[in-house]
Amino acid sequence: MDKIIIASHNEGKVKEFRKMFEEFGISVVSLRDLDFHEEIEETGSSFKENASIKAETIANKLHAPVIADDSGLVIDALDGRPGIFSARFAGEEKDDEANIEKVLAELESVPEKERTARFVCVLAVAQLGKETSSVEGKCEGLILNERRGTNGFGYDPIFYVPSKEKTLAEMNAEEKNKISHRANALHELRNAWSEIF
Ligand code: IMP
Repeated sequence: MDKIIIASHNEGKVKEFRKMFEEFGISVVSLRDLDFHEEIEETGSSFKENASIKAETIANKLHAPVIADDSGLVIDALDGRPGIFSARFAGEEKDDEANIEKVLAELESVPEKERTARFVCVLAVAQLGKETSSVEGKCEGLILNERRGTNGFGYDPIFYVPSKEKTLAEMNAEEKNKISHRANALHELRNAWSEIF
């Protein structure tokens, strides 16, 4: 294999993947490079199912190996919600402010020690004629009762990482990229490299 498609239009994510795959002599092509704009419906009930559906659908359409990710926030006191519905927890797709408000409201009476949560990222690799593989990365933290910091996106301002004494939104990109669920999933992918490819 000398080329892999990353099922994303997000240049930040594509850059992270490109860095790792280039080390292995594999070039990375994004959906933007391919002008592929079809929306893939995420009909699965887990991060793994959704990442696999995305990777397999695109691999079948484009006849090439594809890597796809699915990620979200899992809050223990909410029985794992918002989970796979993280992007649209408050209804509207990707309304970060409304999503944060909903989390804060639902956790209003939950004491600090019970506000444990984690970001989860699953990467699925689909290759024609092979079973789809996946790896998972996590980032553990606590949900604050107010926003702190302005960097990042999504739930970053309310996600506090105790070991760093900062929210993800108080970290710069370099700091976040060392400990994030996506970084940890990429690390797992590297560990499983010879089994997957
Ligand atoms: P996606 O799978 O990357 O599209 O992420 C789905 C949703 O999970 C996003 O819209 C965010 O609400 C949330 N999310 C995923 N990763 C992060 C992160 O690193 N910080 C904050 N929110 C995130």
